[in-house]
Amino acid sequence: MTVFSLADRLSTLPPYLFAAIDKAKAQVAAKGMDIISLGIGDPDLPTPEFIIEALYNGAKNPRNHQYPSYIGMKTYRQAVADWYKQRFDVDLDPDTEVVSLIGSKEGIAHFPLAFINPGDVALVATPNYPVYGIATNFAGGEVQYLPLLEENDFLVDLDAVSNDTWAKAKMIFVCYPNNPTAATATREFYERLIEKAREFNVIVVSDAAYTEIYYNPDDRPMSILECKGAKDVCIEFHSLSKTYNMTGWRIGMAVGNPSLVAGLGKIKENCDSGIFQAVQEAGIAALRDGEPYAEQFRAIYKERRDVVSAALTKAGIRHRVPDASFYMWCNTPEGYKSSEFVTNVLMQTGVVLTPGNGFGTPGEGYFRISLTVNNDKLEEAVSRISKL
Ligand SMILES: *Cc1c(COP(=O)(O)O)cnc(C)c1O
Repeated sequence: MTVFSLADRLSTLPPYLFAAIDKAKAQVAAKGMDIISLGIGDPDLPTPEFIIEALYNGAKNPRNHQYPSYIGMKTYRQAVADWYKQRFDVDLDPDTEVVSLIGSKEGIAHFPLAFINPGDVALVATPNYPVYGIATNFAGGEVQYLPLLEENDFLVDLDAVSNDTWAKAKMIFVCYPNNPTAATATREFYERLIEKAREFNVIVVSDAAYTEIYYNPDDRPMSILECKGAKDVCIEFHSLSKTYNMTGWRIGMAVGNPSLVAGLGKIKENCDSGIFQAVQEAGIAALRDGEPYAEQFRAIYKERRDVVSAALTKAGIRHRVPDASFYMWCNTPEGYKSSEFVTNVLMQTGVVLTPGNGFGTPGEGYFRISLTVNNDKLEEAVSRISKL
């Protein structure tokens, strides 16, 4: 059979860094070892029942069986605007400043197509969610990575970015609360970022998927749109996935600068036909009435975080106790590279961790734990690791 060769954009994808770990996982499974995966950032808790009810009711309505609008139902966009107002005190015009997404990954992946010409540069803060760089490359753009370092609390060192770099850049991708480092942004950082972006006419892409997974109700993560002047240069991607345990539902939103929202909408108009309206109705229910449930989920993650942190401390593994997100970013023990450590742990204990370098070079020397399994499993996992 003919094997067709892939287009350059696929054959030049960066090397897949988890190949060695996948191989080790298969070996461990073949030995019949009990595997505990702390590798996947996908909530284990179910979607709240009332959201499922809303989907069910929506599915019974024949009006919802036809093509939805690609920008989203007005009622969904209004619910997004209301939620941003109530949560962040940010005013959004649902007609021009909100677009629905088939999950925020879809929107992030499509966004560069709207604004990147071949050869344009996107700055990507790294370690990072891989989609930013790949989507830029798919659009023919070039990526310049900005390292997120522990000594800067994993914030982009804005002073270290030269004016030349700013002048060359078309957009910059940031993500706070951050996956994988769990770092949160300060207001000061966002304000300086916006100032720079306005000075050099650079688009700021904020990935805010984790703002609702926080542990201190008196110090909740911000939306970048809370900052003055943000709408001049920013688009923010958000999602119902992590907040309400809805990763499988595929529903999210992009909000902010109207020309950026419209540009993304133009790509979507030509690629997809929006989200099943019954899912949008479920999304409206989640945004309106989901807060008490989100509160419960946060309490569960907090307990897990504390269990793991105590166990890691006992095992002598250096780590930061996160203020937000359901990840823990830990230092590999002295003398171990990320993938070496992670492969070792997997082979000897059956516990799956994510090597930090898989998210970009500055992630070397770290590994990520995802708090998306129950306490018993977390405790068992860390106890196995500590016996190494
Ligand atoms: C999970 C995740 C997303 C994507 O979530 P969707 O399910 O596509 O809405 C986006 N960014 C980061 C950093 C994530 O971890």
